[in-house]
Amino acid sequence: MLALLLARAGVPVTLLEMHKDFDREFRGDTVHPSTLEILDQIGLASKLHELPHTKVSGPTLQFADGAFRPFDLSRLKTRFPYILMVAQSRFLEFITQQAAQYPQFKLLMHAQTQHLLEERGAVTGVRYLGPDGAQNEIRAALTVGADGRFSTIRKLAGIEPVKTAPPMDVLWFRLPKLPGEPEVTGGAFGGIGRGRLFVLLERNDYWQAGLVFPKGKYQELRAQGVEAVRKSLAETEPRFAKHAEALTDWHQLNLLSVESSLCPTWHRPGLLLIGDAAHVMSPVGGVGINYAIQDAVVAANLLAGPLKAGMLTEAHLSEVQRQREGPTRFIQRMQSFMQERLLGAVLRSGEPVRVPWQLKLLAKIPLLRDIPPRMIAFGPRRVRLNE
Ligand SMILES: Cc1cc2nc3c(=O)[nH]c(=O)nc-3n(C[C@H](O)[C@H](O)[C@H](O)COP(=O)(O)OP(=O)(O)OC[C@H]3O[C@@H](n4cnc5c(N)ncnc54)[C@H](O)[C@@H]3O)c2cc1C
Repeated sequence: MLALLLARAGVPVTLLEMHKDFDREFRGDTVHPSTLEILDQIGLASKLHELPHTKVSGPTLQFADGAFRPFDLSRLKTRFPYILMVAQSRFLEFITQQAAQYPQFKLLMHAQTQHLLEERGAVTGVRYLGPDGAQNEIRAALTVGADGRFSTIRKLAGIEPVKTAPPMDVLWFRLPKLPGEPEVTGGAFGGIGRGRLFVLLERNDYWQAGLVFPKGKYQELRAQGVEAVRKSLAETEPRFAKHAEALTDWHQLNLLSVESSLCPTWHRPGLLLIGDAAHVMSPVGGVGINYAIQDAVVAANLLAGPLKAGMLTEAHLSEVQRQREGPTRFIQRMQSFMQERLLGAVLRSGEPVRVPWQLKLLAKIPLLRDIPPRMIAFGPRRVRLNE
């Protein structure tokens, strides 16, 4: 996204992606209202809607005392009051295809960054392993580490994230669609079982399902095997007992080891970290992609001018962190509250759980009720692209 926005602003950019293509394991397919508004600003929102998608306005959670919707985006004042679910591989192909329309953009697939080039204490580019197995160098006024939660660039720069461990992990898997599917309000719902939470997101031709379970219990679950997951899903959500029969092999399940982290500094002279490389987000609210994209937009706003003028300083990079760190910390605190008050209670309990009173109260007060959906959709500050 940053490469697209910089190329669009006339800055030459080379994007290195270590994989041969964008098609790999599930890592979230959520495109939030904030991203849709930004894409709309550059005329791409309608085109994105042409890709196969579904829309989610908020999950319905089934508690012991009835159904509850922790947030509902459909009341938000925006052209896009929903999360657009698009396969991440298709989304990334879309963004890079749009970027390829600018002569300043160059994409190198199967190119793995392995070393930073440095001169007089400043990063001046990278050395990477190309598709032919040869080492190559690129020199640049700015190197951006947008290389995810296990960022190589962050490690090479010697930046250490401060981690907190949320109380859960998630197993993601797909379930088939069957004739006569249940109606799903808001496109997503969650079933609460004994010490478990199942999340089901409706997709065009399948269900994306997640099993949220207490951190540290993976080996126990693994030992019980896929049959136990199938049984637990059928108990928690009997409407999905038939779908669950499609789970026959542990390899159908993808583990998301849930983490939340924040780097104390996001920059060095000539180098900037954004997205998961700078801060891994807990999956509560599914905001990881959204926050990574907001970082990219703020970076493009602040850096395109100095880069074009050849006047980039570390102060510009520091300003990116200053503008993004506050919203990141804020949402991480909110996630940790939800994890403790809602998920923690669900996961610790061996019994069916009732809706926590704090959530019931929140839902009754209109002014407060709209805070969680606004935070999930936009964060504490609405990010716009400077035109
Ligand atoms: C199982 C799972 C489920 C998730 N579900 C959701 C969800 O529902 N909603 C949500 O918002 N977020 C979700 N997330 C989080 C989300 O994927 C991240 O927050 C988001 O993708 C971060 O974007 P990014 O661009 O910073 O990093 P990434 O999307 O991780 O992209 C980093 C890219 O850098 C490439 N790369 C890495 N190292 C190198 C290197 N040395 N050289 C060249 N290229 C390299 C990688 O191949 C990758 O393409 C999920 C994550 C996981 C693991």
